[in-house]
Amino acid sequence: MFNPVNIGFLRIGWIDVVDVVLVTALFYQIYKLLTGSVALRIFLGFLSVYLVYLVVKAAGMELLTMILGQFMSVGVLAGIILFQQEIRRFLLNIGKATAFERMRMFSWRREQPQQRMSVTPFVEAAKSLASKNTGALIAFQQASDLKFYAESGDLLDAAVSKRLLMSIFNKTSPLHDGAVIISNGRIKAARCILPVSENPDVPASMGLRHRAAIGLSEMTDSVVLVVSEETGQISLVHGGEVYRNLSTSDLRGKLNEFLFDVQAKPASSAASARSSAEEVAA
Ligand code: ATP
Ligand code: MG
Repeated sequence: MFNPVNIGFLRIGWIDVVDVVLVTALFYQIYKLLTGSVALRIFLGFLSVYLVYLVVKAAGMELLTMILGQFMSVGVLAGIILFQQEIRRFLLNIGKATAFERMRMFSWRREQPQQRMSVTPFVEAAKSLASKNTGALIAFQQASDLKFYAESGDLLDAAVSKRLLMSIFNKTSPLHDGAVIISNGRIKAARCILPVSENPDVPASMGLRHRAAIGLSEMTDSVVLVVSEETGQISLVHGGEVYRNLSTSDLRGKLNEFLFDVQAKPASSAASARSSAEEVAA
């Protein structure tokens, strides 16, 4: 067993070592979440005010301590509001990484109708839309509920078909603007507004449609299919990563992989260009 070590007046036990390791891991996660976002600057600003507060308090400057103390007391609440997106992403990452998820203990989720949904109508619709340079944005709900986003558009609750998807995204359709949301194997809503990513590393070549896809995938575990109106390219976005310029077979493979954990055959996916927003920008 690990015996406590005495360094001067410090007595370091194994629980202290675990504590330090966990705090390091926590700070690393916070750093990873905040790098490249405006939230990092806010966090550093907040940290600076806290350090000034500690110095001022130690120096016994009562008036300034009181003013900064007031600021710090609302700090937790302000932090939750300011870092709402980052906190959601952090909790989502923890949820995704849990052993429960890996062990498929929640396997009932796999029994949902969506699990058996065919990806063919989406693959075929994406192919036709891309060949006509018609833009499309389709979000597939997984564990995170997209009800909030579905309600920002027009509720449909219709069966999935290539024809319906083509009709929705037809440029003259009143429903073509915004995103379609797929949930439990049905087209839940169209014309939905998705959260736009604020990641400054997203390349300027990506407009609002792609940014909205990235934004949703950063905040939820959804898989988002994008057909570019400008280039006719098909992309898939998942976990903040953009898989660009997919062929139809790559699209089918990736959709099956992300939605149903069905691994694509290695040879077929060799051409897929996998790129995170950071990699594209680099
Ligand atoms: P494309 O390659 O198709 O041009 P893009 O990434 O360059 O895509 P824009 O050209 O800005 O993006 O696309 C604008 C379209 O994206 C809008 O007409 C709208 O349909 C859709 N869009 C923009 N913002 C959002 C949003 N927040 N949520 C859902 N859809 C959005
Ligand atoms: Mg554009």
